[in-house]
Amino acid sequence: MTHLIAIGGSDAGISAALRARELDPSTDVTVVVADEYPNFSICGIPYYFTGEVAPWQSLAHRTSADLEATGMRLRLNTFATGIDVAGRRLTVRTPDGAFEDLAYDELIVGTGALPSHAGIAGLEALSPEDGAHVIHSMGDTFALDHDLTTRQPQSAIIVGAGYVGLEMAEAFITRGMTVTQLQRGPEVLSTLDPELGALVHDELTTHGVEVVTNTTVTGIEKTPAGLTVNGSRDGQPFEQTADLVLVVVGVRPNTELLEQAGASLGAGRAVVVDEHMRTGLPHVWAAGDGIVTHHRLLGVTYLPLGTTSHKQGRIAGENALGSDRAFAGSVGTQVVKVFDLVAARTGLRDHEAITAGFTPATVAAAADDHKRYYPGAHPIHFRITGDTSDGRLLGAQLVGRRGTEVAKRVDTYATALYAGLTIEQFDDLDLSYTPPLGSPWDAVQVAAQAWSAANAKVLV
Ligand SMILES: Cc1cc2nc3c(=O)[nH]c(=O)nc-3n(C[C@H](O)[C@H](O)[C@H](O)COP(=O)(O)OP(=O)(O)OC[C@H]3O[C@@H](n4cnc5c(N)ncnc54)[C@H](O)[C@@H]3O)c2cc1C
Repeated sequence: MTHLIAIGGSDAGISAALRARELDPSTDVTVVVADEYPNFSICGIPYYFTGEVAPWQSLAHRTSADLEATGMRLRLNTFATGIDVAGRRLTVRTPDGAFEDLAYDELIVGTGALPSHAGIAGLEALSPEDGAHVIHSMGDTFALDHDLTTRQPQSAIIVGAGYVGLEMAEAFITRGMTVTQLQRGPEVLSTLDPELGALVHDELTTHGVEVVTNTTVTGIEKTPAGLTVNGSRDGQPFEQTADLVLVVVGVRPNTELLEQAGASLGAGRAVVVDEHMRTGLPHVWAAGDGIVTHHRLLGVTYLPLGTTSHKQGRIAGENALGSDRAFAGSVGTQVVKVFDLVAARTGLRDHEAITAGFTPATVAAAADDHKRYYPGAHPIHFRITGDTSDGRLLGAQLVGRRGTEVAKRVDTYATALYAGLTIEQFDDLDLSYTPPLGSPWDAVQVAAQAWSAANAKVLV
């Protein structure tokens, strides 16, 4: 009987454990989790704060009892402190503070990521009681919840305008707070071209968020008026004070355990694995936000996402039992809802494609989500990137109102990217149509045709 230990109770660790139990119910699976919240959907945390999801327990994909019913053993509030690779033993700190060695045949590390502090001076020294917050774990969620309930802060500064920052801006506005969103770059949601980011910016402003771009926060301190962040805006000193500050400037891979065990670091200072989730250390596999991401267009990069972590975890669980599955690679598909708008992307943007060695062109287009004569049609704004050398689709960005199926429409491009289709082949796809829901040429194909028209001369 194989004894498999998975470290981490989030997307990667739990996916690995579930897959191993599913494939071979005789496998003895232990999951070591630093806190007591295994299999919680941290992606849903912003909707707990909007009040749409309650109680917090409903954020669990599965309860501990559900997980244990699959036959896995959960070691909660247990922190993995060291891996003896040669001896195949994992040292853990148990809830009572003692150290214990656990023997394994195969080890899967899914320790994920930690919130980045982006070098903001003073942040380490502040606590949630001071009103300074990050958001990544259920512990962070409870700390923020407690602060909102007890101190009842009226104003918030959100440092960062990426996916999580935007979702949390909506949550704070929904709670009646005043929100200032600070963004280092010239436009919010810098994973999209600024032309589309500007639409998201307008949506934030329309709902009362004060958006301040070109602003770099370098420090934060407690003052009599609250928490004061300082830095620079357009090269000039910048300072602003609020009751609460939430720093959401991305994540850094949590690699300490694997680094100490001898694993190498690669893109984004994440742990290097091959497509099979092998770390290079015998019998040690890894998955999730702590490792590099194999990408179908970029090669190896770092792109921490829940979707990818689930897939990598499943592959690690499978291969640890002797299979030979390879991770097919991400194409970087992402989507976010910001109030009544949805923004999505997949593949590469122009500058990313150039860096990756392609010869891209990007074309803007807009098309209605369904036939205009049927009530409720709204435009979807697109930016399509294709390779001018062979017409291959390289990427797509979409912004549209909620209800225009932006999330599912971006998935058609993601599927085409996976298959390596040209834009012309994408146009040939037999997509569904009925007037209340689409058009004979779906909006995604209208946008693709705009690219073909603009690049017709190049391709003949
Ligand atoms: C607010 C928010 C919203 C998000 N929304 C989306 C979204 O909409 N779509 C999307 O694709 N992605 C989203 N993400 C990203 C997604 O949640 C992560 O990519 C995913 O959860 C990563 O899973 P993971 O298992 O690699 O690691 P993590 O979620 O980072 O979990 C790591 C796990 O390891 C445990 N651990 C760490 N160190 C140790 C140790 N030494 N010993 C024992 N246990 C340890 C932790 O307790 C935790 O259980 C969001 C993230 C956040 C924070």
